[in-house]
Amino acid sequence: MIINHSVKYDADVIIVGGAVAGAALACAMAKYNIRTLLLDRRKEPGSMNRGDGLQPRTLEILEQWGALPELLKYPHVKSSGIELRHPVLKTLMNIDLQPLTSSKYNYILNIPHRDIEQGLLDYADKHELIHLQRGIIVEKLLWNEKNQVNGVRVKQRNETFQYTAPIVIAADGGLSGIRQHLQIDAKRALYHHELVVLHLPRPAWFSNELRTLVNLHRDGAVVFIPLPDRQMRVTVVVPSGQASQWRKLSDEQLFEQLQKRVPELDQVPVHREGEHIYKMYRMHAEQYVKQGVALIGDAAHLTHASSGQGMNMAIQDADLLGDLLHRYFSKSISLEKAYSLYEQIRQPINEEIISRSDFMSSVVYTPNKLIHSLKMMGIFSARFIPGLRKKISGNIACGIAGIEQKETIHKSLTHALEPI
Ligand SMILES: Cc1cc2nc3c(=O)[nH]c(=O)nc-3n(C[C@H](O)[C@H](O)[C@H](O)COP(=O)(O)OP(=O)(O)OC[C@H]3O[C@@H](n4cnc5c(N)ncnc54)[C@H](O)[C@@H]3O)c2cc1C
Repeated sequence: MIINHSVKYDADVIIVGGAVAGAALACAMAKYNIRTLLLDRRKEPGSMNRGDGLQPRTLEILEQWGALPELLKYPHVKSSGIELRHPVLKTLMNIDLQPLTSSKYNYILNIPHRDIEQGLLDYADKHELIHLQRGIIVEKLLWNEKNQVNGVRVKQRNETFQYTAPIVIAADGGLSGIRQHLQIDAKRALYHHELVVLHLPRPAWFSNELRTLVNLHRDGAVVFIPLPDRQMRVTVVVPSGQASQWRKLSDEQLFEQLQKRVPELDQVPVHREGEHIYKMYRMHAEQYVKQGVALIGDAAHLTHASSGQGMNMAIQDADLLGDLLHRYFSKSISLEKAYSLYEQIRQPINEEIISRSDFMSSVVYTPNKLIHSLKMMGIFSARFIPGLRKKISGNIACGIAGIEQKETIHKSLTHALEPI
């Protein structure tokens, strides 16, 4: 092995992890002209079917960075919200974003996850101050004499290098090696169900009024997320330990199982490519910042996929952290202040989203069939109390649109900082 201790690229910020969180922060750094080195061990974006829906607040952020047009080059569809359905009780609730007037984006923009990652990277990488390096494994953190992290040691093929920068960001995912290295406490709780994720062509009846269809069922929900090219991402919720059996089913058996839960599903050719199974975890790091490093995205929090929030949280983390780092580099605040505000503001917002997603996880799967039926009846009965169903669905729509979150961040920043 060749050990080369030379610094190959001198940056102001090193971001470890070039998936959605890291790529999003690189877009923010591009907006503020901050010299950034983005490192990822993968040679190309991942092919996982995860997180396709960009929510209204996220779209506003992408527009502010100038990255939205890059993403709109990829095939996409607009989804008006979420419908909760039941095989017998039919539509239980419609969460419709269209009546919202707080943003011009009153919809969710669905783009396959891989294209979102690629689009963000393409946008950031065009900027002369953003330098993307793939196929690089970050192995160690480097420390200065004040016990602050000031760089990383990396490995590429048989060579090791070190890169230095005053700021290192961990965007290295749920199993974050950096978080572990810094000994930041982050207990993971495993859900008692798993997800089987596949792609299917959308049935003919699912070509207009596109929205996420959550087909609730006592054995576990089946969620249809409309994608471009008349495709949909299908997420099947199954009890823990059963996902691998689903993967062994033949196409016919798989279709039969799906139709048991969603009788309206017409005969469509089952396309198994890109099929994945996922265990679901809930996790929230005790600290977002430590010894000069900040965590963003899944490195800081894992949330249940049923509420479609993890990727949006990652982009929203990047937005606030980018703004605060810009203030630091413009010398209007110290790095300590930037980091502490990032943690103080984002941690409670993310905690609330994790709790809401936790509740949603219990709607998509309840092990006890009786409790499941009672829950379904409970949601169904909301229609008999005037205005209640509208109020609940309206509140959920505002949560998805991120209206309250935007106000909270604005108020916290105005309170803590003078405008620059
Ligand atoms: C089934 C499923 C469905 C989902 N659906 C949704 C949804 O509908 N909406 C939504 O908003 N979210 C959804 N999510 C969540 C979303 O996918 C994640 O929250 C988001 O993609 C996390 O991005 P990230 O960049 O933080 O982490 P990751 O995507 O895990 O990226 C981490 C990156 O760091 C790199 N890396 C790690 N270690 C190193 C190292 N040592 N050196 C160099 N590079 C390293 C990895 O190669 C990787 O590229 C879903 C998740 C799942 C599993």
